[in-house]
Amino acid sequence: MEFTMNEQQQMVYELAKDFAENAILPRVEEIEKAEHFPKDLLKLMGESGFIGINFGEDVGGMDMGHMEQSIIIKEIARVSPSTGCVLDVLLLGLEALGLYANEDQRQKYLAPCIAGDQAVSFAFTEPETGSDPKMLKSTLKKTGEGKYLLNGVKRFISNAAYEGPIVCFALEEGEDGKDIVTGIVFDKFCKGYSISTPWEKIGYHGSEVYDVFMDDIEITEDQILGKHGDGFTQLLGTTAYGKLGFTAVFTGTMLGAADLAVKYCKEKLHRGKSIAKFPTVQLRIAEICTYAKTAELLLLSASDVCDNNHFASDDIATMRYVQSFTAQAKGYAAEMAPKVATLAVNALGAYGVCDEYQVERFLRDAAIAPNIEGSGDIQKLIYGMYALKG
Ligand SMILES: Cc1cc2nc3c(=O)[nH]c(=O)nc-3n(C[C@H](O)[C@H](O)[C@H](O)COP(=O)(O)OP(=O)(O)OC[C@H]3O[C@@H](n4cnc5c(N)ncnc54)[C@H](O)[C@@H]3O)c2cc1C
Repeated sequence: MEFTMNEQQQMVYELAKDFAENAILPRVEEIEKAEHFPKDLLKLMGESGFIGINFGEDVGGMDMGHMEQSIIIKEIARVSPSTGCVLDVLLLGLEALGLYANEDQRQKYLAPCIAGDQAVSFAFTEPETGSDPKMLKSTLKKTGEGKYLLNGVKRFISNAAYEGPIVCFALEEGEDGKDIVTGIVFDKFCKGYSISTPWEKIGYHGSEVYDVFMDDIEITEDQILGKHGDGFTQLLGTTAYGKLGFTAVFTGTMLGAADLAVKYCKEKLHRGKSIAKFPTVQLRIAEICTYAKTAELLLLSASDVCDNNHFASDDIATMRYVQSFTAQAKGYAAEMAPKVATLAVNALGAYGVCDEYQVERFLRDAAIAPNIEGSGDIQKLIYGMYALKG
């Protein structure tokens, strides 16, 4: 990578690459086949400092930045997009807690998650919405002073079968009688919490998703995230930084597919000569590598913006500025990942569609890119509106 990393970023890159190649790659088959990410690998990611990279040492983090976080997820996704997805979803939940949890919530939840002993879930999506908070149907209803009941169904929730906290968003009646969105954090597997069987999906097989059923879950005031009614801003703020995570997963997916295509084209012989000599092969590889590198540069640029633009919960202008970069990078990567993976499959001809050659796994994982954590279309709308503003 020609982007000049500083000494710390270079060290993180080498650690992540080594971890991906030596701890994850040998277990890819197991990760893909299990409908549950191996707990010991989660713990190992925690011990390696990959889960709390940009959190303070007081909660077990490494006190680094979004740039280092992006480098880690990208290198891990480069061998296993499924594992990148697991890591990203953890970081999204942690991001919400890091930005909006009070000190007691921080102390209770962050350390066990960062250590890899627990896995945080982030629950926004519902059967009727994955993009629009106004369409939420889950409800938080007051039953007494500082006491509430939480009801509803959350859909496609990652890590829902692991012990740990869940950051959840629900509608509540505001003081003026109008609906407001409120963030809540509580322990999974409390009374009233249950999950479906895992959804069967095209890719990210190691990263299971479930429906979460919330049936009269008792919530107390200390489980409210920030203030009542702050949920919409919290969603925007969390995902402004959080969009980097999946940008890194999609970029890693493209780089991994490119690695496999380049390797194959260098080794494959046609009438005794390498197919790398064919202009068609050279053109295809040039296209694959250019899209992947563009995604990588947008990722790194957006990561740099995140590290240099911290925002308070009421600083909407800075949040929107950060969001414009992360949405642009995510929108591009979400669109290009399936395209790059398809080109890579074609570079291998018929071998490309065979499980043994691995690149088909990247294509299946890449197929999910336009449809996760807010659709790719919506990322483009966010960036387009920002670019056209004022
Ligand atoms: C593997 C996986 C893991 C996931 N993990 C989680 C998780 O941990 N937590 C969680 O909350 N969710 C999770 N999700 C859900 C995911 O984030 C949502 O499915 C995603 O945001 C898209 O929402 P949707 O499916 O409801 O699609 P919709 O939002 O309904 O979109 C459907 C189509 O309509 C378009 N569209 C929708 N609204 C607009 C609009 N306003 N303007 C223009 N076009 C629009 C979209 O671009 C898209 O093409 C996960 C999904 C997957 C596949």
